[in-house]
Amino acid sequence: MPIQSIHPATGVLLRSFTPLTDQALLQKIALAQAAFARDAELPLAHRALCMRKLARLLECETADLAALITSEMGKPIAQARAEIAKCASVCRYYAEHAERILAPEPIDTASNDATVRWEPLGVVLAVMPWNFPFWQVFRFLAPALMAGNVGLLKHASNVPQCALAIEALVRRAGFPRGSFQTLLIEASQVEMVLADERVAAVTVTGSESAGRAIAAQAGWLIKKSVLELGGSDPFIVMPSASLDTAVSAAVEARCVNSGQSCIAAKRFLIAESIYDEFETRFIAAIEAMKVGDPTREDTRIGPLATAAQLDELDAQVKAALHAGARLLTGGERIAGQGNFYKPTVLSGLPRTAPVYRQEFFGPVAMLFRVAGIDEAIAVANDTPFGLAASVWTRNRAEQRRFTAALQCGAVFFNAQVASDPRLPFGGVKRSGYGRELSAAGMREFLNAKTVVTAQPEPIP
Ligand code: NAP
Repeated sequence: MPIQSIHPATGVLLRSFTPLTDQALLQKIALAQAAFARDAELPLAHRALCMRKLARLLECETADLAALITSEMGKPIAQARAEIAKCASVCRYYAEHAERILAPEPIDTASNDATVRWEPLGVVLAVMPWNFPFWQVFRFLAPALMAGNVGLLKHASNVPQCALAIEALVRRAGFPRGSFQTLLIEASQVEMVLADERVAAVTVTGSESAGRAIAAQAGWLIKKSVLELGGSDPFIVMPSASLDTAVSAAVEARCVNSGQSCIAAKRFLIAESIYDEFETRFIAAIEAMKVGDPTREDTRIGPLATAAQLDELDAQVKAALHAGARLLTGGERIAGQGNFYKPTVLSGLPRTAPVYRQEFFGPVAMLFRVAGIDEAIAVANDTPFGLAASVWTRNRAEQRRFTAALQCGAVFFNAQVASDPRLPFGGVKRSGYGRELSAAGMREFLNAKTVVTAQPEPIP
């Protein structure tokens, strides 16, 4: 099947690519392997120089790159520019901090001289999603290339132009040929790449089904894998919260990237005493969101990335209503061309409904009334996922309890959950395993090599 770039707001076919043949794919893997042997010898200072140049290229070409994101997956243009800026920041972070993270660590073991050295694993395959078509890739490639690994990118099939643009940027930044290559391949060809002996490891950001299939193969092959999968993050508001700030953050947290973010807040758990007030204000704020042409500066919610995403979201809302949820606003497609869906608020979805356990990947919020902190924790954890949580409370004792009890990779108090190059990012449960970003993310694809040198016996 051709790999197609289709404008989500108009349905117009922008470009079409023929997937690589198996033979062309093998040539790219060979090039990657040769690049690894060579890149491992590149001084760190040289890689840092290239990484800083990459950041500058991103900044200088923001307008064009953002327009490309918007045309391929429908992200509102202002958010697309912010995505490019964030990519530049992750390049600079690793250019600046790689030396510290990669420095050998001497360990005091009494009689022996011991050191841990951090060494790159080799060729790493990255299977990536379309929702942040630059950011998801950059948060893999910046630490990987700085550490001396080599990257092969299998991007989502609806963003081939973004994938090619990233490869070209890396090359223009000065990284040698083969250090980072885009593979225009179908999902079914991933198996062949991962099975190749020259590929050392894999990172997957995407759905549970993709993660499960790839991790199963990686496990069988005994290759390192990192999984960044879906989420159904709770947004919890307790009585001590500032309702004004919480409501506007809640709307932003649900609607960012038109609702298509793994760390978007998806379930809103509101304390009984403030529930009615929150619900009224939340619905008003959601209804005020400007939906439409993603190239307009004032658009807050664009189209969903693909027609299939729209169909799936619509089916989930119907299933939720069928299961007993109440529709407070929205609940339908927007007529006309493009994959537009009305921002939607549901309440009271029974937790026994199968759809409750699914991720809603679009502008659909679910409200739940909770009696107090015990119920808030119970509902928050009642999900197969465990990516992050946003909790709104000024009460220190409550903060300590939430911190200890929430089953997820990150808890943000009185703030919306966001990724940051300095902070480890990842989940537990079916949101995946391993971490990206920070020192932890860089070390996922490094060999912690222990070197012990015993003191020689004194020569008699
Ligand atoms: P997806 O359908 O799983 O696709 C992600 C990538 O996996 C694409 O490149 C896709 O290729 C590939 N893929 C799918 N099935 C595969 C298989 N069986 N074998 C090999 N490759 C396969 O996910 P998506 O719809 O693009 O992205 C949305 C999901 O990603 C959501 O669940 C979201 O929460 C999650 N996500 C998680 C994070 C995180 O950091 N935790 C960040 C962003 C998104 P094709 O496009 O060719 O099918």
